[in-house]
Amino acid sequence: MSAATLNTPIESGAIHGKGGVRVMTEKTRGTVPATLKGLGVTFKNMIANLSGKLAPTISYPEEKRNYSERFRGVHVLTQRPDGSPKCVACYMCSTICHADCINIVAGEKPDKGIEKYPVKFEIDMLRCVMCGLCVDACPEEAIVMSKEYEMAAFTREDTIYDLTRLMYRKSLVEWRLGYRPRYDKLTSPSQPVVHPRDAKAGKQAV
Ligand code: SF4
Ligand code: SF4
Repeated sequence: MSAATLNTPIESGAIHGKGGVRVMTEKTRGTVPATLKGLGVTFKNMIANLSGKLAPTISYPEEKRNYSERFRGVHVLTQRPDGSPKCVACYMCSTICHADCINIVAGEKPDKGIEKYPVKFEIDMLRCVMCGLCVDACPEEAIVMSKEYEMAAFTREDTIYDLTRLMYRKSLVEWRLGYRPRYDKLTSPSQPVVHPRDAKAGKQAV
């Protein structure tokens, strides 16, 4: 048989089977350093993980991740300088909400510049999918989102956030604001944006 017709490693002499002893070829010899190098990487990462340097987990709830400013957490109803809701009960947010979880009841305001306000504003957090469409639809920047994601409750009623809870939550100081139309001005719940209409009237943010 000529060398040109040899096909298998044994036939070509790459692996000799004489006496059942496999002889390491040039090709197989090259895999040893590569394997050792790979094991070195594995060992290095194992040490880093054990020492906590690379750990993908955190000690929640003692530790919390610092999520992006665009995080879509529990909603916040923003305020006017006098502390009343900026919401003008236009129903844009409840109309766009595909989860049908916003319930608004509008009331009349004697102020003709505002006309309406929410007598009732509720969000059913068990139905909400945190999509942020309500924030996008609001023409007044009256509804924004926070980074708050702890919504565990003991009763069904506690999962429905009313006007007061959406406007004033001590927890907001810790969680900070999340997804909102403008990131330059509205930076925290205690610094609501002054709507251009309010600014024109000389009102300042509180
Ligand atoms: S975040 Fe989405 S699902 Fe939740 S209230 Fe807004 S529009 Fe509805
Ligand atoms: S939160 Fe905004 S969109 Fe929703 S009713 Fe109030 S003003 Fe309209």
